[in-house]
Amino acid sequence: MKLILLGAPGAGKGTQAEILSEKLNIPTISTGNILRAAVKNGTPTGLKAKAFMDAGQLVPDDVIIGIINERLAEPDCANGYILDGVPRTVAQAEAMEKADIIFDAVVSIEISDDEIINRMSGRRVCESCGASYHVIAAPPKQDGVCDNCKGKLIRRKDDAPETVKARLEVYHKETEPLKDFYAKRGILKSVENRSIAETTESILRVLGK
Ligand code: AMP
Repeated sequence: MKLILLGAPGAGKGTQAEILSEKLNIPTISTGNILRAAVKNGTPTGLKAKAFMDAGQLVPDDVIIGIINERLAEPDCANGYILDGVPRTVAQAEAMEKADIIFDAVVSIEISDDEIINRMSGRRVCESCGASYHVIAAPPKQDGVCDNCKGKLIRRKDDAPETVKARLEVYHKETEPLKDFYAKRGILKSVENRSIAETTESILRVLGK
């Protein structure tokens, strides 16, 4: 199963990707997590990406395509994968198609901008493993501590309200056209974002699982 999760920032792609990864037994590949790790480690990719990320803008396509080509070539991707946060532009989608990377399904998680702005204020992520939580909707067992790896939970810099607005604008302009791109290929499925469990159920249903 090769799957793309599409949706605005804060639509719950990361959370659903983690759940689906376990249920379907395939890895999740999140370019956001890969880039945040690169920034934290001060790698050349991280140095290139940091300013774009802090401003809520997209990292250039060539950087992303390089990351994806490298990651998808790893052995754990042989039986499929879930892409979270990539492709983010038509150019990225076209580059994957050119590289013969074909998907079984693209699931778009639908949610209003107002709901996103409300939610992002409560989002927390683990600074070590990237797992995401929400102070009300999906709290960790222990305040401020990751359930998976005991890492510290932090608020992402780009979850600040002004940056969230910029990211939403970028989503509507650059990423939303991907819905049309994949609808034309007959593989787009849409689900409404509800509670975490209901959204997972809807995704599994549209995937026929
Ligand atoms: P995310 O965690 O998916 O919300 O990504 C956080 C930030 O990383 C985005 O706002 C972009 O700056 C950058 N980023 C992640 N994935 C991509 C991508 N596929 N294309 C361009 N920029 C990306």
